[in-house]
Amino acid sequence: MYNNGIHFALKTWLQPSHFCFFAPFLDNTGVPMSKAIGYATNHSFTSLAPILFDRPEPDPSDVQITILFCGVCRSDLHQVRDDWKNTVYPCMPGHEIVGRVSAIGKQVSKHVVGDLVGVGCMVNSCGSCASCRARLEQYCEGPIGATLTYNGPMKPDGSNTFGGYSSHIVVPESFVLKIPAGLDPVAAPPLLCAGVTTYSPLRHWRVGEGQRVGVVGLGGLGHMAVKLASAMGARVTVFSTSADKEADARRFGAEDFVLSTDKKAMTATELSLDFVLSTVPDSHDINPYVQALKRDATLVVVGTLAPFSKPTDNSKVAFHRRNVAGSLIGGIAETQEVLNFCAEHGIQAEVEVIPMADINEAFRCIARGEVRYRQVIDIAGTLKQPD
Ligand code: NAP
Ligand code: ZN
Repeated sequence: MYNNGIHFALKTWLQPSHFCFFAPFLDNTGVPMSKAIGYATNHSFTSLAPILFDRPEPDPSDVQITILFCGVCRSDLHQVRDDWKNTVYPCMPGHEIVGRVSAIGKQVSKHVVGDLVGVGCMVNSCGSCASCRARLEQYCEGPIGATLTYNGPMKPDGSNTFGGYSSHIVVPESFVLKIPAGLDPVAAPPLLCAGVTTYSPLRHWRVGEGQRVGVVGLGGLGHMAVKLASAMGARVTVFSTSADKEADARRFGAEDFVLSTDKKAMTATELSLDFVLSTVPDSHDINPYVQALKRDATLVVVGTLAPFSKPTDNSKVAFHRRNVAGSLIGGIAETQEVLNFCAEHGIQAEVEVIPMADINEAFRCIARGEVRYRQVIDIAGTLKQPD
């Protein structure tokens, strides 16, 4: 459900005539650009604040998108805080973007002006390596890997990509997703990261009818995992540190709920699950979840990138031929697939709509574990020019 802390004129935003537009101009090297507004920070320890910056005008195969909504992923907080020691400042996050096409290059054939579209975690890749050919651009093996939607320096000139906490963005058409008619634009952004990050491993490990699936952590990713795995026919167990999330877990489709701090309840899950997905963002002990796996079953960790808090006990892995794996977002084709899947199955993310100026408080809410279950910024309605 939407927590409408603010009032907004949704209908107005969704008119194709609502395009923000800043006149194009030539930069000092003669490249056509337009002015954009966005929220960025220059350091790990300062707040995000509005800035004016330049976006390129679309190249022949590019799409320019006026951003309506952008989800706030926990990765945005990790990146701003430089948790992964790779942040380039200024850092302008945002990789769950829904907007309307406002201009297209001459060669664009998949999108027309006025289309409702999405951009997820990537805006480019080499296009020719084995992973790109397999439509798994997130694992691009090219010289600079996949170009993420924000936080370069991944472009050839070393400049930084700026994400969706901004008025508009310019993206190659092959990295632009169609938002199917059945999806509500305000609830669609989380599908572009949280949705595909959980959908991709569920599909890769062939989760389906009759299987028993565990989801660890009921947050942005976790709640999507519960909805998706349930729609795929699995019986879902949620492992959570928050007893007060049980009713929500069941509402999202889970049949079982285990408080992960309850050792007895954890022991009772031994050898019971066909697949477990951990979305826990911090270093944690995965051994209790390894034990919950049946023979040959797999635990996939999509949450933390930090070392686990305890070494994996290989006797637990070897004795039942269990598997421990990781997974990164999803390819562009898979991202379109999860959007279509959610439209077909009537699945939507649970979102709290927030104004752009509340982004720093939104980060504090994430850190305190207060979000139910994804914040989405009303970009078109609340992003204002810096004073
Ligand atoms: P989130 O909304 O904050 O949800 C994380 C959930 O994990 C929390 O709601 C909480 O659920 C549980 N949790 C939090 N801290 C915990 C701790 N110390 N120990 C145990 N459980 C804890 O975050 P999110 O947006 O879902 O993102 C989750 C993680 O996935 C982040 O680290 C993010 O960077 C990462 N991520 C990875 C990928 C990828 O491609 N692999 C893509 C996107 C995001 P309970 O209250 O139920 O315990
Ligand atoms: Zn994300």
